[in-house]
Amino acid sequence: QAKAAGRNALRFFNPSMQAKVMARTTLEADLRWALEHDEFVLYYQPQVNAQGQTLGFEALVRWQHPMRGLVPPGEFIATAESCGLIVPLGRWILHTACQQLVAWASQAPQDQWTIAVNVSAQQFRQTDFVAQVQKVLQKTGAHPARLELELTESQLVDDIPSVIDKMGALRDLGVRLSLDDFGTGYSSLAMLKRLPLNQLKIDQAFVRDMLKDPQDAAIIRAIVTMGESLSLDVIAEGVELTAQRDALLSLGCRYYQGYLFGRPTAQPTPCQM
Ligand code: C2E
Ligand code: MG
Ligand code: MG
Ligand code: MG
Repeated sequence: QAKAAGRNALRFFNPSMQAKVMARTTLEADLRWALEHDEFVLYYQPQVNAQGQTLGFEALVRWQHPMRGLVPPGEFIATAESCGLIVPLGRWILHTACQQLVAWASQAPQDQWTIAVNVSAQQFRQTDFVAQVQKVLQKTGAHPARLELELTESQLVDDIPSVIDKMGALRDLGVRLSLDDFGTGYSSLAMLKRLPLNQLKIDQAFVRDMLKDPQDAAIIRAIVTMGESLSLDVIAEGVELTAQRDALLSLGCRYYQGYLFGRPTAQPTPCQM
C-alpha cells in the first residue's frame, strides 16, 4: 500500500512539477521578505469626469524588486492570495492609501479626491475585514467617504447574505463600494439590486473593442442603463483613445480611467487635459 502510494507520488511528482513548486516556494519567501523590507509601492491612476477633472485615483500595487525592477501585480497577487500573504499586504495597501488621503486633507482640491483600493477575495473573506478597515481609518484619520473599495463579481457570489451584511457594514463606516471588472462575471440584476454598491466599473475588455464591435458597445449601453436604474455611478476603465471617450459619453458613461487621462504613477498626478 505504502509502496504503491510512493510509486504514485513519484509518478506524479515529476521534475517539472518540482521546479514549479520550488519557484512558487521561492516567490512566497521573496514576497514575505518584500513585505518586511518595504519593497511594495502604490501607484496612482487618475479617474476623471466628462470635463476631464480628476475626482480621484485608483491605487495599484507594484513590487519594487532590487533585481527584477518594478514587478506588476499580475505576477504576484495570485501567489500572495494563495499563501495568505495578501492579508498583511492588503492591510499595508489600505494603510498606505489612507495615509495619502490624510496628506491631501488640508488643501483643495486634493481634499475632495478619492482613492480606490482593490480588495482581493481572500482579504474580503476575512471575518474581521470590516474591523480591519475601521482600524486603518481610525489609525490614519482618513475621511471614510474618500476611500472606495473595489470588489469583483466573483468574490460576491460565495455566500450572498453574509456578503451583503459585510458590504452594509462597510457602507456604515462611510466608505464607498465599487464593482470592478463588471460585465465579465456572473451577477444578475436581482443580485445587483441587493448589493449596497456605489459604482459599477465597466471591464476594460468592453472598452478596448467597443469601436469595432457593436456588441461590446451594446453591453456598455446596457451597463450604463442598469447603473442608472439602480442609482449607481458607472466608470469605464482602460480608456486609451479620444474616440473611445467620445463613444462612452454618447452611451451615457460620464466617468473614465485609462492611459488617455494618465498612467499609474508613483506620485499621484491629476489629469492634464
Ligand atoms: P484592475 O483593478 O482592473 O486594474 C486595472 C488595470 O488596468 C491596472 O493594471 C492598470 O494599470 C491597467 N490600466 C489602466 N489604464 C489602462 C489602459 O488605458 N489600457 C490598458 N491596457 N490597461 C490599463 P495593473 O496595475 O497591472 O493591475 C492589474 C490587476 O492587479 C488589477 O486589475 C487588480 O485586479 C490587481 N491589483 C492591482 N493592484 C492591486 C492591489 O493593490 N490589491 C489587489 N488585491 N489587487 C491589485
Ligand atoms: Mg481595480
Ligand atoms: Mg478592473
Ligand atoms: Mg482587471
